[in-house]
Amino acid sequence: MKAARFAYHSPQSVDEAIGLLRQFGDEGKVLAGGQSLIPLLALRLARFENLVDLRRAAGLTGITQEDGEVRIGAMTTHTAVHRSEILATAVPLLPRAAAFVGHPAIRNRGTIGGALAHADPAAEFPAVALALDAELEVAGPAGTRRVPARSFFISTYISALESDEVLVAVRFPTWTGDCGFAVKEYARRRGDYAMAGVVCAVQLRDERIERSSIAFIGLGGTPVRAAAAEVLITGTAPGDLDLAEVARAAVEGLEAADDMHVTARQRTRMAQALVRHALDDAIAEAAGHG
Ligand code: FAD
Repeated sequence: MKAARFAYHSPQSVDEAIGLLRQFGDEGKVLAGGQSLIPLLALRLARFENLVDLRRAAGLTGITQEDGEVRIGAMTTHTAVHRSEILATAVPLLPRAAAFVGHPAIRNRGTIGGALAHADPAAEFPAVALALDAELEVAGPAGTRRVPARSFFISTYISALESDEVLVAVRFPTWTGDCGFAVKEYARRRGDYAMAGVVCAVQLRDERIERSSIAFIGLGGTPVRAAAAEVLITGTAPGDLDLAEVARAAVEGLEAADDMHVTARQRTRMAQALVRHALDDAIAEAAGHG
């Protein structure tokens, strides 16, 4: 099938893009890498009169390290995230998660801003953003606001973005010291969306887990933090951890859904197993055995 007709706009700046979006209202839509939006248009699952392409809007790409955080421009591609030397040391979860996103052709065009704005609970970057308490920089007619990841993902494909707003960048705090990170997924084939996935980060201090974060991919309408499991492990010496108990606590209350590949129960069991593997690896890395 072909997409319905639309007018194509190529603003040179974010302000120009916002002006266009304001003018078009619900008939306008931002186009980034097109890896999610174009298939939706081509299958006629969505229709917009006007596409506002951000590719030529200045200042939307690049990865920079500032005081205690890394700022990534929204139009930075998944490939750039995957290959970034800054991210490999400052926010290792991102390049590791990028390796699971689709295939090279998709990663070459898809953007981190697009993956976050699309708010697909089966996507990797939203879970990483939630796990690491990222902040999203959003520009609109009234100026720029910062939205914490925990308030950004509202439900499946619905984010806190208004129709006349542009996601400009995302900021990730850096974890320093004895830290370990892991991304684990079950997918039918490499590059497919995960049936279930987990991202996790731990920080050790004085041989105890000082800080931890666990978030699920594909286990609800949004990415989900395993808050009860984080409380259980924080302050504990890794040797005293009962990982089976932690994994059980992590999946309690999850609202997984059935689909054509897997039942909700199977998905939850996968998630439980993944938590154990992810924590095991992250703790080993933090302890210097990774
Ligand atoms: P687009 O498709 O251009 O836009 C997506 C949505 O976000 C649109 O609603 C658009 O209006 C909005 N948007 C985009 N950028 C902005 C912005 N800066 N401000 C405001 N709104 C914006 N993703 C995964 O995470 N994991 C996978 O395993 C995976 N597998 C895939 C497999 C296939 C075969 C395909 C086709 C895609 C797959 N994807 C996967 C999706 C891919 O990661 C997309 O690149 C991503 O979801 C959207 O990014 P994009 O830049 O292509 O955005």
